[in-house]
Amino acid sequence: MLLTITTTLPPASDLGFLLHKHPDRVQAFGQSFGTAHVFYPEASRERCTAALLLDVDPVKLVRTRGKGTPDFSLGQYVNDRPYAASSLLASAMASTFRTAMRGRCEPRPELAARPLPLEIVLPALPCQGGPRQAERFFAPLGWTVEAEPVPLDPSFPEWGDSRYVTLRLSGETRLADALNQLYVLLPVLDEAKHYWIAPDEVDKLVRAGEGWLAGHPDRALITRRYLANRRGLVRAALGRLADADDAPEDALDRDPLDEEPPPADPSAFGPVPEAPEAEEGAQAAPPPAPLAERRVQAVLETLRAERARRVIDLGCGTGKLVARLKQDDGFEKITGVDVSYRAVQIAHRRGLPDPYRPDRVPRVEIHQGALTYTDERFRGYDAAVLMEVIEHVDPPRLGAVERVVFGDARPRVVIVTTPNAEYNVRYEGLAPGAMRHPDHRFEWTRAEFAEWAHRVGAAFGYGVRIVGVGDDDPEVGAPTQMGVFTKESGGS
Ligand code: SAH
Repeated sequence: MLLTITTTLPPASDLGFLLHKHPDRVQAFGQSFGTAHVFYPEASRERCTAALLLDVDPVKLVRTRGKGTPDFSLGQYVNDRPYAASSLLASAMASTFRTAMRGRCEPRPELAARPLPLEIVLPALPCQGGPRQAERFFAPLGWTVEAEPVPLDPSFPEWGDSRYVTLRLSGETRLADALNQLYVLLPVLDEAKHYWIAPDEVDKLVRAGEGWLAGHPDRALITRRYLANRRGLVRAALGRLADADDAPEDALDRDPLDEEPPPADPSAFGPVPEAPEAEEGAQAAPPPAPLAERRVQAVLETLRAERARRVIDLGCGTGKLVARLKQDDGFEKITGVDVSYRAVQIAHRRGLPDPYRPDRVPRVEIHQGALTYTDERFRGYDAAVLMEVIEHVDPPRLGAVERVVFGDARPRVVIVTTPNAEYNVRYEGLAPGAMRHPDHRFEWTRAEFAEWAHRVGAAFGYGVRIVGVGDDDPEVGAPTQMGVFTKESGGS
């Protein structure tokens, strides 16, 4: 991977002072995963270009287990993609241009403090969402963005574009700001799975984002995507547990933020093949369906029984339930909403309608949205489903979700499913007290869920019934609990 930085402010070769790398030299800096080379293809008074070339050594990368380096412990990851280029580039930038990123330059302090005419080029940047996404992230920072998709194979234009773009940024920015923006946004644009060991990822983001991230219109999206990498750390541990093949079903539930895009073939999109629940003495009967499938079934049955024809799936993830609703013509209008841009993209790739094509007025829609903010698009449905969603919401934000769903959207029926924490003792390999999924903010016992459901029902005028989904264990209950809220007559 290559990054070049050019300035035209005379004497341009002062760029060497700012980067603390002499323009006449070619320097190599060892990284835990390869080598970073810094050199200057041109260094005149009028124009000076510094290049950072990253040479990744796949063997070193796999062996890497150092502190503060990406942990590629999942063999499957290494097979899928030899390296997460953008993360490694960001990491290499941080180590080779550390002082420049802090905005310090003793020989030329005034130069470090002022905006410079800069041109930054990345000939092959992995960029999910293509040129439009690059524009969306960099343009608000004052850059003129030119992003060209790189064709998959120039000899076969009909094959279309790769996930790489050639990115050229030009503008007047402080060098330190430019470097910090790249440090954060390159991995965010790549959205590659990578597992950072560093426990201080939040600090790093706050530091690198100083002066530009807080005012960025996409700060929430950028932060969420950037920190998804943190959650991956816990997932890596769960991933190893899963390899031991006695994993709890929900540990295998794909977090859409961490999920690799599934195959584009929509027919491949059925029930997730998960380990069936271990049921002793049940050999004669066909194995029970996986829990995720039983949840979908329970929700579909409830929606049909309640005669809901217009359904909104809030926190739809990659569209598992939406795809099933779509198969039943009894559902007139189906909408999925998720806060994760990536989940929405994956849902689109699965053949669910693309909201960015306004020429279609679809029966099925998927769009990005947050449940913590009132949204008029959530109104006008018979039923809302929150399947395995509330436990992903920070407890202080749960009240906002309640108001948005029960107070403002106010469908006739609300279906909420969530894990039953008491059942966790039945999952081998799940440490006592641990939760089923690293992104869960809480998991409730049956009493806790009932207490919440009745409180919300009473507050907003909904009757409540709670049923278990999955095999009902005499001691700890069923693995999933489902609350069905029906609006009391007379309610607005
Ligand atoms: N309902 C799906 C996905 C469950 S995972 C299924 O059962 O398969 C939880 C989903 O909730 C994730 O996709 C996450 O992005 C989404 N989510 C979490 N908080 C949200 C919020 N505040 N607004 C919208 N979606 C949210």
